[in-house]
Amino acid sequence: MVMDPQCTFCQIVAGEEPAEIVLQDEHVTGFMDINPVTPGHTLVIPNRHSTGLRSLPEEDASILLVAAQRLAKALLQSELRCEAVNLFMADGTSAGQTVFHTHLHVIPRFRGDGSGIRLHSHGGVRKSQPLSEHAAAIRSALEKLHD
Ligand code: AMP
Ligand code: ZN
Repeated sequence: MVMDPQCTFCQIVAGEEPAEIVLQDEHVTGFMDINPVTPGHTLVIPNRHSTGLRSLPEEDASILLVAAQRLAKALLQSELRCEAVNLFMADGTSAGQTVFHTHLHVIPRFRGDGSGIRLHSHGGVRKSQPLSEHAAAIRSALEKLHD
């Protein structure tokens, strides 16, 4: 198992750091976020260390999303207030990542919960945005990706 001894989330997987674990198998661990956005806010992580999407093995990406789906279904059926779910990932410092072990947030949502994940578009810019140029840049990068 790839482990970074300095990494808090690796320490949680190893049982060296306390956490309220709700789901764990050989590949993945789900535990309560210590600073929840809403009650039931859970983090799901691959057991083997990777810092983010660039180093996350594709196999772990699949495992992560399947575990997040299971957690979301459980939250929706639980006694906690959960009408809907946000999945959220901060990948990189500029995106707000503070813990550098890949993780997905699974966040219960309900009407009037006072929380919110909103993507703010620069409305005025939108019309003049050269979407075709952006798409070309992405297509070109996709072609150069190697698995
Ligand atoms: P981010 O990197 O922005 O996705 O945020 C990391 C998240 O991990 C935050 O929501 C923290 O509250 C949470 N967190 C940090 N340390 C721990 C810990 N030891 N146990 C549980 N959650 C943690
Ligand atoms: Zn780690």
